[in-house]
This record gives sequence, C-alpha cells and structure tokens, in this order.
Amino acid sequence: MDSFIKSTKKLIKPSNICEECNFTCNTINFQRNFENWTSGNGDIDKFIQDTQLLAHENIKEALEWIPYDGFYNITKSRFDEIYEANWIEGNISHWDDKNQNWKRNINNMIVILKRINNLKNIKLEVMNESHGSHGITQNPETNKYMTVLNDKCKRCNYVCDAIHFQQNFINWTSGNDDIDKFIQYTQLLAHENIKEALEWIPYDRFYNIVTNSFDEICGANWIDGNINHWDDKNQNWNRNNNMIVTLKRINNLKNIALEFMNEIKIDHEFYGITQNPETNNYMMVLNDKCKICNYVCNAINFQQNFINWTSSNDDIDKFIQDIQLSVHYQKKALEWMPYDRFNNTIKSKFCKTYITKWIDGKIRYWNNEKQNWERYDCDT
Ligand SMILES: [Zn+2]
Ligand SMILES: [Zn+2]
Ligand SMILES: [Zn+2]
Repeated sequence: MDSFIKSTKKLIKPSNICEECNFTCNTINFQRNFENWTSGNGDIDKFIQDTQLLAHENIKEALEWIPYDGFYNITKSRFDEIYEANWIEGNISHWDDKNQNWKRNINNMIVILKRINNLKNIKLEVMNESHGSHGITQNPETNKYMTVLNDKCKRCNYVCDAIHFQQNFINWTSGNDDIDKFIQYTQLLAHENIKEALEWIPYDRFYNIVTNSFDEICGANWIDGNINHWDDKNQNWNRNNNMIVTLKRINNLKNIALEFMNEIKIDHEFYGITQNPETNNYMMVLNDKCKICNYVCNAINFQQNFINWTSSNDDIDKFIQDIQLSVHYQKKALEWMPYDRFNNTIKSKFCKTYITKWIDGKIRYWNNEKQNWERYDCDT
C-alpha cells in the first residue's frame, strides 16, 4: 500500500520537475547523479551536494567532486605550497538537453589545486576563496583533499597577462633564484601593461651576435622578438619577430632590481635577461629609447643599422647619419643607396642624369612586425 502511494505521488509530481522552479533545473540534474560519485568522506559529499542543491539557476553556486585523474600536468609551484594543473573536462557551462549531459566551458583549462587544511571548516575555507572554487579533489598519494580554484586574477577579475605569465613560471629558469624572482615580480605586475614585464630569454634565441672585446655590449637579432599582446586563439604571445636588440652585461646581480628601476627603465625599452653560456655573464636585453620620443622611434631604427652600410666616404656617411638621426616620426630621410639596388639604368642623351628604377623604393614607415622599412614601389 505504501509503495502504491509513493508511485502515484511520482506520477502526479514527477521527480524531474523542481518544485521551486517548476521545470528540470540544475539541481534536478545534479541530484540524479548523486549516486554515481563519492569523495569517500560523508561530510565532503554532503557539502558538495548542498551547493549543488542551491544551484537552481546559477550553475556557479555548484561545486563538483572531481577525481584526481581528471587532472594532468600537475606541478607544484616553486615558491609556495600550491599546485597548478590542467583539468581535462573543464568547468560546467550549462545543461545540454540534447546530450543529456553538462556542457563544459574550456577543456584542459588551467586550475589551481590548493590543500584544504581543516575539513571541519571546509565551508569557510572553500567558499572564502577569492579565486572561486570549481570543486574538490583528493590527492591519492597524500590523501589530502584539495579545492580546485579558478586561475582568474583577483585584481582584474579575468585571466589577465599577469596570470598568463604566472602559468608559465614552471617552464623556465635562469638558473639563479634572484633573477627568477625579479623577472617573476615584473611579470606579476603586468596586469594591463605588458611593457612592465621582463622575460627570461635563452641565449640561443639570438643570432648575428656582434660583441665588443669586453663582452659588455653587443648587438643581436632576437628570433622571437618582444611581446605585443596575448593571442587567445593560439594560447600564446603575439610577438615582433626578428627584432634587433642590444645585450648589455649586468655587473651586479644583487642590485639588478635597483639598477632596473632607477636607470635602465628610463633610457631603454627593457625586454628581459639572458646569459652568455661561454662567459656565464648575465645580460640585459634592451633597446635605446629615443630621448625625444620616449620609445624606439625611426631615428633609433636607423641608428641600429649604421654598422651595416658605408658610402666609403666619412663625410657622406656622417651627413646621411645626421639626417637619419633627426627623423623621429617623420617618414622622410636620406639613405645610402648601393648602386646595385638600381636597375634599368639608362644614360640620358641630353644630360648626365640617370633614369633608373630603384629596387627598394622610398621609405614609407618602420614596420615593427617585419622589423624593416616598408617602402613605396618607386619608379624614380
Ligand atoms: Zn530548481
Ligand atoms: Zn590582473
Ligand atoms: Zn625619436
């Protein structure tokens, strides 16, 4: 008789309709899955279930039980007691009626795993996290329960550049803790201004290295070039490939932060630090900023090319260089043009001028991405 009443009740009020929402809301979909998972700890199960039963319309209220094998690339951070990992499935976006399953936002998303210290206070510990928790997991080696946190920036409230840098901390080291910490410090300041950030740049990312006898300063081509912005599609930095830079020896590692703050930053665009593997000297990777423009302007781009050409006449060289150094943002400047860059040279019958076609063409502007001049297709 009892069971008969129960089954009629089900007929009248089917269990897949939420009494509060009057449709099949999130809580119903969670509830139907309760029997399919357990954390192995009754309190934690109850805690997770309670959050799921509150998530009628707001899925963000709900935590999940996430088995540890749902993560990979689990790496402990070097400077604190937190782990970073990729979560294969990623967090829930909404219920997908067609597939009768949860639709998830980002597969393989990066999350932080943080140990729960006191299970008695689990509600406080998990809910007070400013990063926002997706759920709970358990490290099978230590049996410690961990909360699975969003890797959002607390200050920006989204995954900003500082977070993109932070996620990469485990993938590089300069071999020197002071330098690592200093570079990381600058990267963690780069919430909105990418120019604040320095990078560790392995020496083999440079070529055409022209060094002076003391290994104090040298010019080089940097294969990757400096960062423009984060490219969401490629999940990597967009860069100015193949740029010309100056490498300058760091004399006192202890003072690097001070040196950087006081001097280097004022006169230079400072991109990062590298180490010459032959001399073991650490070197700053930078460019002179133009004192007038306060960035690397046309005059600086011309200046960096002075070593690559000569008219074989010092007066002419000096004359052309002076004009080039006066060109900051204007497009007009003189260049030394080797004769073999002209073709179709025709000697006029009536005067001694030459009508020629100039292969390279007149300069239009400096193209930062190509690290070269854009030119007009010129007929004169
Ligand atoms: Zn509901
Ligand atoms: Zn930020
Ligand atoms: Zn300038």
